[in-house]
Formats: sequence, C-alpha cells, structure tokens
Amino acid sequence: MTDQQLKPDWLFNPGVVLLRDVATAVLHLAAVGDLDAFTLPYPPGAQRALDALVLQCLRNRATPPAGVPEMIRWARARPLSSWPLDQLPPDLFDAADRLIDEVSGEPAQLCHELAVRGYGDSTGRQYDRLVIHEALRACRAMSSPESYTAFRRLLVTQPVLTEGDWAEISCDLFLDPVRFLVEEIYAPVPAGFRRDGSCLCCHRCLILLHPVSDTEWWCERDQCRHRGPAPHGRELVAAEVGELRQLRKPLRLFVTGPGQAETALEHELRALGLTVEMWPNFDSYDVRVTFPDGHVWAVDVKDWAHPAFLGRSATAVRAEPPYDEACWVVPEFRVRARRDYLDSYARERGAQAGGLRLLTDRQLVRAARLRLSGDWGPDASIGPLNTGADEPSGPGRRSTGNRPADNTTRAEDAGQDGADDA
Ligand SMILES: [Zn+2]
Repeated sequence: MTDQQLKPDWLFNPGVVLLRDVATAVLHLAAVGDLDAFTLPYPPGAQRALDALVLQCLRNRATPPAGVPEMIRWARARPLSSWPLDQLPPDLFDAADRLIDEVSGEPAQLCHELAVRGYGDSTGRQYDRLVIHEALRACRAMSSPESYTAFRRLLVTQPVLTEGDWAEISCDLFLDPVRFLVEEIYAPVPAGFRRDGSCLCCHRCLILLHPVSDTEWWCERDQCRHRGPAPHGRELVAAEVGELRQLRKPLRLFVTGPGQAETALEHELRALGLTVEMWPNFDSYDVRVTFPDGHVWAVDVKDWAHPAFLGRSATAVRAEPPYDEACWVVPEFRVRARRDYLDSYARERGAQAGGLRLLTDRQLVRAARLRLSGDWGPDASIGPLNTGADEPSGPGRRSTGNRPADNTTRAEDAGQDGADDA
C-alpha cells in the first residue's frame, strides 16, 4: 500500500539497532559521574551495546573502543555519521549529530529520541514523568482540568521564582490541588548561578543561565545553544528579589524548554483574535483553537531533533475535546536546521497516523490568518491532504467515534516533546 512496506525498515537496520542500544546505555549511565571510577560490572545493557559495537568495528576493520568509558567518550566526541557502521542508512544522521552534547557532556536530545522507550529512561526522565503523572492524578481527583492547565503553564512560563513570585502563586487557588508538588519541585538556587550578586535568565528558555568566565553566560539546553549565544533575559539582583527558587533540572529540560514552543504559538494565535485553550481536558493535546465561525483546530507541538523518529511516532491527535481538523506542528528553526525535515516526517509516517500533517509554526499561523480572512481553500486548512487515496479520517467531530477517549497515556509522553516533549 505505501512504499514503507516495500523497503526494508531502517528502524531495524543493524546499525540503527546498535545505536539505539548505545543511546539507551548512555542514558542509563548519565547519572553516574565518573565512569572510569565506576565499579564493574556495568549494567548488562551497556555491556551488550559495547560487545555489539566491538563486533561491528572488527567487521569494518576499525579500532574498537577499549571499554564502556571509551564507548561513552565516542558518544560525545564522534558524530554518529563517523562511527564505523557500514550498514547505517545514508543521510540518516547529520554531520553534527552526537549522542552526548559536546559542550555540556549531557545526553543530547537525539539520544533521548533514539533510546529504547521505557528501557533507557534516565532518572531525570523518570522524575519528569512522575511529576506530570502526579499532577494529572491530583487534578483529576478534584475534577479540575483548569488546575492541570495552571500547573503546566506555571512550569513553562515560570521556571524561576523570586520571593514576590512565590507569594503570588501561593494565592493562586487553581494551584491548590497541586500545592504539594509545587513545593517539592521548586528548589533554592545554588550560589553558583550568581555573578556579582545577580542571576540572569535565558530570554529564549526563561531558565537561569550559568555564569562561565568573567563575562559569559551559558544556557544548559543544547537545543538553545545550537541556535547561537543565549539572548539575555530577566536580570535578578539578589538584594532586590530575595530568595530565588528554580524548577528541578529534569523539569527545566523536559517540560519548560519544549513548552516554550507551545506558549509562543498560543500568543501568536491569540494575537490574531482567536480563542485558544492550552492542554485541554487534562492534556489531551497541546492547543485547541476556535475560529469565530465555531470551526476548531487541534494542534500538538513536537519539538523533536530528528524528523524520522518523529514520523515513526505519528499517531492521530486525541478525539476529545472534539475538533474539525488536527495537525502536528514543529518550530520552524528545526526545519531550517534540516532541510528535508518535513519530507522525512511524511515519508516515515505510518498508516496509523491517518495522514496527520506536520506544519511549521509559521505555516500554521499563516493558515489561521488565511482562514480568518475568509479563505477556505487548501492553504487555510491543516487537516490531512486530500490525495484521492482512501486515507482514514481523523478522530475529530466527523469521525464515527472510532477511538475511545484515552486520557491516561499521553501524560507519560509529557517530556518527550522536548526531548518530547509533551
Ligand atoms: Zn536558552
């Protein structure tokens, strides 16, 4: 039916399988500081990945890594395209793709996308999923979707809290069901974030920058650094703002960061005069847009580094709350960084996605503007393209209810958008 069934599946390509095992091992070991001092034996997964890598090296007459620490050093020092894996599909990885960010030594976003789901979760990923899961549980118990939305918005828009901010959110009644979590997930800011009595926020990510050298500041998100030096945001003078609190790191990386793309889209759509709901119905999807004529769009924002993995994960947007058209959206900078991003997504998208389109945020806003101006043509639509093929329709209002509403599993993906994000 599709060409996908005619060609061998690259996801099961031996080189890709091997790299997924290595990525999984990298995440397992990320919590271990000094690998050379790590007491043997290594976790079985890491040893297996190393054994397989050694075999591939010998096959390709390359010098293999001498042990797990060297394999992890490869993950940081060598772009994936230079690993001696002759069976890797050509062009799958860019010259810059590494499993570990060169500068920070943290697993790169691509590493999270490659790692075998559920097995390779670092303690950080487990933590962010646990927090989101607890928030959903608490807000459901109070039948308060507004509380979940308020909590999610807090994590995205206020990763850093001054004493004044803290007093303000303490009065926010919507946050009552998740008060116990809020108190747990914001921690005092260590002195290392301060220089000359001040902290500085990244204007892109809203999180605190790390002072490096006497004059420079550094953002901990690799996605941000790839876009150039961190633009300086809010300056917080300790003497004026009192005790500073910040979200714990896994939440900053996997919820705050990816959430920026979602709230940026929200602001642009609101500026057009549209009605916008965020994370409706306990996070069924990210953005629900209602036009003046009652027509509804449902949008999930996916800030993924690699389009092929994104394509493989494509599934129809949840049916509740109902909508007329749905799509996924990727920030435009991702597409600028990888020219074939949208094509690669469409190539890898499976039948279960029902033709779900991926648009850039620019394309989505343009389509909304066109529709508002009275254009009802294909450029003002976000739903699956009508190719004449008998593609299944989405689960929105026009569907016959082919999918039960399922509100429990998406929360597990909350961080994936960024690295998954949500
Ligand atoms: Zn940043």
